[in-house]
Amino acid sequence: MVHSVILGCGLAGLTISIAMKSRYPQMDVTIIEKSEYKQRGGLLCSENDRGFIFDTGGSHVIFSNKEDILHFMLSILDNEVITHERKAFILLDDLFVPYPFENGLHVLPPELRAEAFISFMEAQLSRPNDWSPKNFEEWIYGSFGKWIAEKYLIPYNEKIWKRPLSQIDVSWTFTPGRLPIPDWRGIAKAAVGIPTIGYKVQSTFYYPLKGGIQTLYDSLLAKAENLKVRIIWCEKVREVKKLEEGFIINGKYKADILINTIPLPQLVEALNAPEYIVKNVEHLDYNSIVVVGIALKKSAPQQHWVYVPDKNVIFHRYAWISNYSHFNAPKGFSSIIAEITIPKGHQPKIEENVEKVLEDFERIGTFKRQDVIFTRTWFHKYGYPIYTLDHKRVRENVLSWLTEQNIASTGRWGSWHYWNMDKVIEEAFLLIEQQNYKNYLT
Ligand SMILES: Cc1cc2nc3c(=O)[nH]c(=O)nc-3n(C[C@H](O)[C@H](O)[C@H](O)COP(=O)(O)OP(=O)(O)OC[C@H]3O[C@@H](n4cnc5c(N)ncnc54)[C@H](O)[C@@H]3O)c2cc1C
Repeated sequence: MVHSVILGCGLAGLTISIAMKSRYPQMDVTIIEKSEYKQRGGLLCSENDRGFIFDTGGSHVIFSNKEDILHFMLSILDNEVITHERKAFILLDDLFVPYPFENGLHVLPPELRAEAFISFMEAQLSRPNDWSPKNFEEWIYGSFGKWIAEKYLIPYNEKIWKRPLSQIDVSWTFTPGRLPIPDWRGIAKAAVGIPTIGYKVQSTFYYPLKGGIQTLYDSLLAKAENLKVRIIWCEKVREVKKLEEGFIINGKYKADILINTIPLPQLVEALNAPEYIVKNVEHLDYNSIVVVGIALKKSAPQQHWVYVPDKNVIFHRYAWISNYSHFNAPKGFSSIIAEITIPKGHQPKIEENVEKVLEDFERIGTFKRQDVIFTRTWFHKYGYPIYTLDHKRVRENVLSWLTEQNIASTGRWGSWHYWNMDKVIEEAFLLIEQQNYKNYLT
């Protein structure tokens, strides 16, 4: 019997197990996961508290520009989903500008629309043909112009990334589906007051009818279990030893094939990797995330999520999660989740954060203190991988060393890419397709 072991049972680990078992039914597949069963899901975790369902890893919606991947996600849910037309906004002073900002300009007074359009055109006209922005900040100014950059994109992104944008590599903006690239025709229409839809990939999105985003995870889990994938919960990967043939994990689980989806720093530590790899991994940067859930005794406006560039507000985004499904809150009530990023290595000050969140919501007029029924908070150490200027070099060094060790690594943290669910799933299937595990079975 050939044993394959997958480290980490988030979306990536589960999808790999399904892809592996579907292709090689005779393979023995085990997943090792540090969380207990009750805390399962990785970033796709939901909790039901007094009838309010919160997605504890932040607002998650299903979308993809890859039809087969979208079909996979929806069919795994048996099409028990709600289809939404996105109602997302950027809160600019006290105005809700429809997202993406450049398409939503039509709600601004004409003099501001003109300013935005003129500075957008100035950026386009002054750009050389061989324009090659050196960092994220240059890319924003050069793509959108000074007005949109300084009113929205720079303050918003500085809030989420917690550093000057000149320290962020431009490569992540080219990750497919990641950031909406402005189309001048849309901006021109918005500037003269005509509404248009941008970032169409996500303008229609889907969400599980019941149980929050975790239902997607749980449906995959049921499929994996049907395929006889073995999952070991509550087992943190602490030690991975390479043997002459295969590996042994935590001194007890033997693997002929090893696939990783846990964060690279944890894998490298478990492998007791050479000093130069440890040094490389130290350069992989990330932000943690605090999610604050609030149950409210009031109804929600017609909004899904709102980006908040205002630097005096602690959260960068909030979502009316009760609008994602009517099963997410009791009738007549509503719920919100707010997201706050925390730099690598910093401890969140949960109580202070909650107090500031409530204060800020009241100040921006979202709800009043007396509307609050209860609050909850969740902390995820690994929230957003960061495309620092040395990201490409460092991750390539680490991944090629892992390849030399015969370990494939994928997922958001096993690849250190800012991947959404669809990309995680796509890459999981691709990995099993590309690695030829047939040799192990003969
Ligand atoms: C705020 C936020 C909003 C998002 N919104 C969306 C969205 O709207 N749409 C979308 O498509 N995507 C969204 N995403 C992205 C999505 O969450 C990820 O793409 C996906 O969940 C990544 O799955 P993963 O398995 O790679 O990682 P994870 O979910 O992090 O799973 C990793 C697993 O490894 C386990 N693990 C870690 N260390 C160890 C160890 N030492 N031993 C054993 N197990 C270990 C963890 O417990 C976890 O279960 C969002 C992400 C965030 C942070």
